[in-house]
Amino acid sequence: MSSIFKKIIDGEISCKKVLENEKCLAFYDINPQAPIHVLIIPKKEIKDFSSLDCQTMSELLEFTHQVVKTLGLEEKGYRLITNVGENGGQEVPHLHFHLLGGAKLKWERLA
Ligand code: AMP
Repeated sequence: MSSIFKKIIDGEISCKKVLENEKCLAFYDINPQAPIHVLIIPKKEIKDFSSLDCQTMSELLEFTHQVVKTLGLEEKGYRLITNVGENGGQEVPHLHFHLLGGAKLKWERLA
């Protein structure tokens, strides 16, 4: 069964798009945890960071730099997070990076 992000990639579910190319997509998180909260995903179906290959990582790296520029986050900075599995708190089983910014983010013990 397709994850919700696969449905977004296929256009079956709408999203607020930031940037897209042939391999990657960036869109606003539906439940933002910061003034700017964007999800960056590969179009290739990869479950999580542990399953990520070098080619896709390279594509995501270049794309993420473009998203950061598009959102004007370079100067003030940002945070990039990927959750993996149960302990990581991953809810959607399609690799995604959370790009958070737009304010000075807190850094607290999470458990
Ligand atoms: P994670 O817990 O790391 O798997 O993060 C999944 C993220 O996907 C959460 O921050 C959700 O708010 C977000 N999310 C779930 N469904 C949608 C959707 N349809 N559009 C945008 N973001 C979504």
